[in-house]
Amino acid sequence: MTTKDTVSSSTNHFLSVSDVQKRIISDIKAVKGTEKIDLRQALGRVLAKDIIATFNTPPCDNSGMDGYAFKSTDINDQSTLTLKVAGQSFAGHPYKGEVAPGEAIRIMTGAQVPNGVDTIVMQEHTEKNDEQNVTITTIPKPYANVRKAGDDLKTGQTFLSKGKKLSPTDLAFLATQGIAEVSVSRKIRVAFFSTGDELRSIGETLNEGDIYDSNRYSLYGLLKNLDVEMIDMGVIPDDREAIEEAFITASELADTVITSGGVSVGEADFVKETLEKLGKINFWKISMKPGKPLAFGTIGNSLFFGLPGNPVAVIATFYQFVQPALKRMKGQDIVLPLTVKAKTTELLKKRPGRTDFQRGIMEQSDSGELTVKNAGTQASHVLTAMSRANCFIVIPAESSSIEVGEMVDVQPFEGLLS
Ligand code: AMP
Ligand code: MG
Repeated sequence: MTTKDTVSSSTNHFLSVSDVQKRIISDIKAVKGTEKIDLRQALGRVLAKDIIATFNTPPCDNSGMDGYAFKSTDINDQSTLTLKVAGQSFAGHPYKGEVAPGEAIRIMTGAQVPNGVDTIVMQEHTEKNDEQNVTITTIPKPYANVRKAGDDLKTGQTFLSKGKKLSPTDLAFLATQGIAEVSVSRKIRVAFFSTGDELRSIGETLNEGDIYDSNRYSLYGLLKNLDVEMIDMGVIPDDREAIEEAFITASELADTVITSGGVSVGEADFVKETLEKLGKINFWKISMKPGKPLAFGTIGNSLFFGLPGNPVAVIATFYQFVQPALKRMKGQDIVLPLTVKAKTTELLKKRPGRTDFQRGIMEQSDSGELTVKNAGTQASHVLTAMSRANCFIVIPAESSSIEVGEMVDVQPFEGLLS
């Protein structure tokens, strides 16, 4: 009974991953400030204003086929139709005259449909008798193969909305409207540093008990993917003054400050004290593995994330909490990681308790089904499995081990599927 009580009271003040995501995201607003930039530079940036079509695209009726344009009123009950070839309309070289009944215009894909004709027959359904005449051997339906003006965009239509992250297609979409510059949210600035007396930067000598700081490199990569401005502040020792100074400098320089290490129970209390003195910080215990402790709040005008120190925990908590928060700050509308279902091909060991973010390898079987297996040793200091993995396997808190053949939730790493 004592054991049971202890378990339930300690799990009570653990927050679930989705609770923490909700708390963080609901607090965050898009940064103020926009900039007008060249269309090419706008790739991957977030639109700050709706974009409205100022003319129809396509601008005029044009042909969807290489063939002949003619009047649908020329279609009669005969199985073939012979017409007089009166001219040609090529892409960029329209036919300027009027077309009379019984006449056809040779036309190419994308070429303007001349005045007075409304139907196009594809070349393969015609026979050229001589220079003057063409016979349509398979008569199309009236209005066939004409791409109407405004098929894609109509004048006045909002075709890209504020908050849209601009894709390669969106650049093309903007180009169809002749738009050379767009307003996007300004880039957000993120400062980050690692804390720990044991940490050395690359290039320094490792003394006994030292390790190289690797978290600043995963953070660099994760932040680079989010296209933010980065301020790498290096390693800060476990020293009250140094930590305080680093927090102040970082919060003055950046919209968001991210640290790793120093937030778990048993760490020097001054990190907590310093943060509480400098800002409004929550110290959460999250029901997730890896990545139990997380500090979140504000220092001055900056958002603050204190991530755990273990290298895999940094990546897992970044993916679940920091990335959605930064996307929201960037003004993006879709922020949470994409989750899909996959069938396990291996036993996935787990004890009920916290939500597991296991490192997995997702594959597509020959039949198209998504399958997933364990990427290796699941320990929060082990980068080997994290490096092999292409997804997190998300196993709910209450769940125990997952048997072969069961379906599980999988979050493909950004860039793989989303
Ligand atoms: P901490 O949260 O500071 O107690 O750190 C937890 C574990 O993560 C310890 O084993 C640390 O040595 C390790 N660790 C903390 N920061 C880093 C870092 N920047 N790079 C690599 N390992 C780290
Ligand atoms: Mg530490």
